[in-house]
Amino acid sequence: MNKFLISVASMAILTTSCTNTAQKASDFDYNVDRFADIEVLRYKVPGFEDLSLNQKKLIYFLNEAALQGRDILFDQNGKYNLVIRQTLEAVYTNFNGDKESAEFKAFEKYLKQVWFGNGIHHHYSMDKFVPEFSAEFFAEQVKALPTEALPLAEGQSADELVATLSPVIFDPAVMAKRVNQAQGQDLILTSANNLYEGITQQEVEAYYNKLKDPKDQTPISYGLNTKLVKIDGKVVELPYKAGGLYGEAIEKIVYWLKKAEEVAENDAQKAHIGKLISFYETGDLKTFDEYSILWAQDTISQVDFVNGFIESYGDPLGMKGAWESLVNFKNMEASNRTELISENAQWFEDNSPVDKKFKKETVKGVSAKVITAAILAGDCYPSTPIGINLPNANWIRADYGSKSVTIENITDAYDEAAMGNGFNQEFAYSDVEIESMNKYLSMTDKLHTDLHECLGHGSGKLLPGVDPDALKAYGSTLEETRADLFALYYLADNKLIELGILDNPEAYKSEYYKYILNGLMTQLTRIEPGKDVEESHMRNRKLIAEWAYKHGKDDNVIEYVKRDGKTFLKVNDYEKLRELFGKLLAEIQRIKSEGDYEAGMKLVEEYAVKVDPEIHNEILERYAKLNIAPYKGFVNPIYTAVTDENGNITDVKIEYNENYVDQMLRYSRDYSPLTK
Ligand code: ZN
Repeated sequence: MNKFLISVASMAILTTSCTNTAQKASDFDYNVDRFADIEVLRYKVPGFEDLSLNQKKLIYFLNEAALQGRDILFDQNGKYNLVIRQTLEAVYTNFNGDKESAEFKAFEKYLKQVWFGNGIHHHYSMDKFVPEFSAEFFAEQVKALPTEALPLAEGQSADELVATLSPVIFDPAVMAKRVNQAQGQDLILTSANNLYEGITQQEVEAYYNKLKDPKDQTPISYGLNTKLVKIDGKVVELPYKAGGLYGEAIEKIVYWLKKAEEVAENDAQKAHIGKLISFYETGDLKTFDEYSILWAQDTISQVDFVNGFIESYGDPLGMKGAWESLVNFKNMEASNRTELISENAQWFEDNSPVDKKFKKETVKGVSAKVITAAILAGDCYPSTPIGINLPNANWIRADYGSKSVTIENITDAYDEAAMGNGFNQEFAYSDVEIESMNKYLSMTDKLHTDLHECLGHGSGKLLPGVDPDALKAYGSTLEETRADLFALYYLADNKLIELGILDNPEAYKSEYYKYILNGLMTQLTRIEPGKDVEESHMRNRKLIAEWAYKHGKDDNVIEYVKRDGKTFLKVNDYEKLRELFGKLLAEIQRIKSEGDYEAGMKLVEEYAVKVDPEIHNEILERYAKLNIAPYKGFVNPIYTAVTDENGNITDVKIEYNENYVDQMLRYSRDYSPLTK
């Protein structure tokens, strides 16, 4: 599995409370909507107005290309998602009963969840949403609509539509989980995504193992852009491409990419946009690799974007890429910080606690920059990462480098929205920790992301002959663990002071404390009672924190303290904690370098999965009282092209006034090439 290189917004967002409120306060309203376990925010795009007209046009065209892909992800996430979304929207927009009734409110909440999850499953837990309105209400409302308002298949009646969708929406046993990672089960048959159909895990593995040549030094990303199905007993790959699966959406994307190509900032950018277009037109994964190389090498353009089938968290076997787009431009000032880090990449690699034989002799092309997101789409919307590191193919990363970015306007929006929510006061051990976090966390959080993305993922090497997929289902978790440990280890290093990136040698303690608190306790707010930890980033944080707790026990490095019936965590020895991080980093790198599946599995299963029900219940209770949404996401700004009498674009306007429901309905209306 090689598509693990995205950093999901961590619980950092919950614990940061900024000290300079007065300085940052503005009329800008970050909070947009609140439902279920979700808070929807909006983000600013500072600096957009200062871009050249050409750059604004480029961003405008790329935005259009981004929005055209929304339906693809809905369909990848589940075969009924688009029909369900259309049906729910038809009911919602035509409803003329009592909008204050409990049933309608529950219906509206469910629709908001479906929009947020890009389907009927939770974007993070992968569990199916539980509707709080009745199947009778749903049937009644659908049947009351004129048939032309419904997404009926050829010859289908409203009754038949209801009969098809009802179990999918209401029966908890039907399509229960979008991605199932439970050990010992058929992960393909038990996952409800639409990336495979009528095929077992064994058949999938056999199919791809046959295609793979273990001696191939530059393998394509097998299966990245296809649906694997069985037709007449034969296994067949259906490529996502113009004229193929999702062709109607891809052709629209290509239309806008061609416009973008015309206003490219330079030849390098023009070249990779052109290559991306031919990838979409042919579906050829060799072309995708050529595109990825051109893209990785374009480090001069200010405007940049991702548009394609990229991350594979939605596939239990980690092959199929979920469609996403992120359009952005470089934040020049903040980029100086990450450039300084990546200029020193070799020093960090040489001085890490990892065994020499697992280190890279030369760390290549770790480009790092801080970006301003201009639009989020597909798998980056509404829930969005705060950093990305692409391309994912290991050999391209090794031979041509990769781009690491942190998305500062998103991080800032999280911080601003989280101010004064009472979280630290409830969970931190004492004022000392709270003060340290207030003072340093907004900086150390950013640095942690920088180090994770710019250095962590790029560090270390596989021993010759080791299969990059050797760690199988544990690969994602262990890769994130490695990158996080690399970041944690160096946050406490004097090198950061020397480079002038941090100004206080104690600052790292704020991040260490938050990390341990989050890994052992507060991230459990995202897990339902009785459930295991499943998501890779959460597993990675739990693995690190639990391992450090256990291995530091003799020295009392981390301590659980009971006070007034509540559990608190106290870190007694930060220096020893750093040593422990270093030790675990060395071991994880060994596991990765040697492809030691057994050892990797043991670590994950022992430390990262099972939850202590007692502490879990306590955390959930305390957290519930704070009434904070555990998940956050964003609405996009609206971009409008201003044209002259000849239709030439003379300016692009940006507005921030759209609410969540309006945005979702507008996208469904204006950007829905896969629905009728
Ligand atoms: Zn990562």
